[in-house]
Formats: sequence, structure tokens, C-alpha cells
Amino acid sequence: MEFSYAAVRAAVRPLPPTPMWSYPVLDAAVGATVHVKHENTQPIGAFKVRGALNLLATSRGGTVTYSTGNHAQAMAYASHRFGQPCTVVMPAAANPSKVAAVQAWGATVVLTGDTLADAEAHAVTLAAETGQRLVSPGDTPELLAGVGTLYEEILTERPTLSAIIVPVGSGTGAAAAAVVAAEMAPGCEVIAVQSAASPAAHDSWRAGDLCTRPNQTRVEGLATGRGYELPQALMRKHLTDFVLVSDERIAEAQRLLAAKAHTLAEGAGAAALAALLEFPDRFAGREVAVVCSGGNASPRELADLA
Ligand SMILES: *Cc1c(COP(=O)(O)O)cnc(C)c1O
Repeated sequence: MEFSYAAVRAAVRPLPPTPMWSYPVLDAAVGATVHVKHENTQPIGAFKVRGALNLLATSRGGTVTYSTGNHAQAMAYASHRFGQPCTVVMPAAANPSKVAAVQAWGATVVLTGDTLADAEAHAVTLAAETGQRLVSPGDTPELLAGVGTLYEEILTERPTLSAIIVPVGSGTGAAAAAVVAAEMAPGCEVIAVQSAASPAAHDSWRAGDLCTRPNQTRVEGLATGRGYELPQALMRKHLTDFVLVSDERIAEAQRLLAAKAHTLAEGAGAAALAALLEFPDRFAGREVAVVCSGGNASPRELADLA
């Protein structure tokens, strides 16, 4: 698997750049100058659409993938936009509203098994049977290249940022961020954050080797049980640091975004701000970007926050 900044430069950009705003009341609450990059305003409510659009712009013949959430919606949306068939394998107990959203974009949903690993195994079989391309949510260079455009937008607008904080599940976002920052703003730290209840990517990065870990976070976008090879290799080279936060701290950050930044974030979308809350001394007085990676909170999640 090959990936470099050149692939980001070459990525298709069919959607307009997302806004990045700052909020003086939020800055006062956290003691830093915070720029919130609003990927929650994407048409599927999350940044993953960037990678899927870049992949589908050049692939033909249909894809098979597996996911519990935003990756599925991104693939369904991009396949619809480029007029290609898409099959998404999801665990049998997948969130019905997410299943409905994927189907509404015209993708075929196959429900099977208890876990994402079961869904992956079935997707491998389906792809072999149909000859369609199997798309890994973590180890696909075209996805990372599309996601990298998010970090180009941030650093084009704010080239002197001191740090960018990126929420991590499989690590595509943080890996792309680290590669883009190394080219565009070598002095800018790129800091990854994951839930302490699902630390597989964090532990893989610290160990320098792919690890499997318990996966117990309630935060869907960050819920991964293993490290992925491509993003881990890139993060090993370019990432500044990787921190963990609790699910409670993430909920606190979600409430803060709602109260001070007019923003309904899903848990994953608030995790970067949670890192600021967890380590206030580290970020005091600095100018940082936090990626609000998504806004697909379920009504249940929002009710629990209130
Ligand atoms: C997938 C996702 C993440 C994590 O991104 P990775 O590239 O898998 O590390 C963070 N936030 C949201 C909203 C997501 O959907």
C-alpha cells in the first residue's frame, strides 16, 4: 500500500470546503484559541464522505464494504453520486436508523453476525463471489487521500496553527493529517485522540505493532478493536502524539459544543475538544484546530446528554 501527500493533492473535491469557526465563549471556557472544523456539515454528517468520493471517482464495477456507521453512509452516498452499485455488510444488530440511511442512498445492506469482524468475513466472501472490489475502511489509500483534503483546507486557512487534534477509530484521519501537516506546516503538531474504552489504535501506535484490544466505548466513530496497517505505518512516521480520554470527558465536550458553539456533535465529533479539556496545561494559550468529525448523534444519544 502506497500513500503520500501527492495523492492528497490529486484527490477529487466534488464538495465545497467545510467551514471552520471559532467562538470566543468556547475559547474562554478552554483557555486556548480553538478553531472548530465543521465536518458535521457534510451531506452525510461526517468527514468520511471525502474518502469515499475520491475512491468512487476512479473505481468501476461496484464495491463491497463493511461498517457499523459513517463509513457505510459515505460509501453509499458516493456510490449513488457516481452511479455505481454498493453493498454494505453490517452486524445483525446494527442501528436501524443507520441501516435505513444507507439503503436510502440506494446501497444494498446485508445484515449478518454479531460483530464487525463477522461482517468483514462475510464481505470478503461476497467480494470474491461477485468480483467486486472489497473496500477496507482503514487500509485503503484512496480513502486516506480524500480525507487528507480536510487537513489541506485547515492548513491553507490557518498555516500557523500550533496543533491539530484528530479523533481516531481506524486512524485514516490522523494518518492523513500527519502526512499533510509534515508537508504544509512542519511546525504544527498533529495529536490523535481515542477513547480509553477502545484503545486499539493508541496502543498499536505506542507499541509500534498492530494490537487487538477490548472495544467498549459507547462512541461509535471511535469504536475499533484493532489497529490498521496503513494508517499505523504513517502515524509511526509523522504523528506528534496520541492521547486517551474517557467517554465521560467526551460527553462533557459534546455538551460544551452544544452550549458554546451552536453545534450538535456525535461523540466522536467532540473527542478532539475532550483532549483539550483533559490536558488544559498542555494547550493553554495556544492556537489549535479541533476536528468536529461528525454530527450523527442518535436521538437516544442526545437525550442522554441532556
Ligand atoms: C470514522 C470516524 C472517526 C474516526 O476516523 P478514522 O479515520 O476511522 O480514525 C471519527 N469521527 C467520526 C464522526 C467518524 O465517523
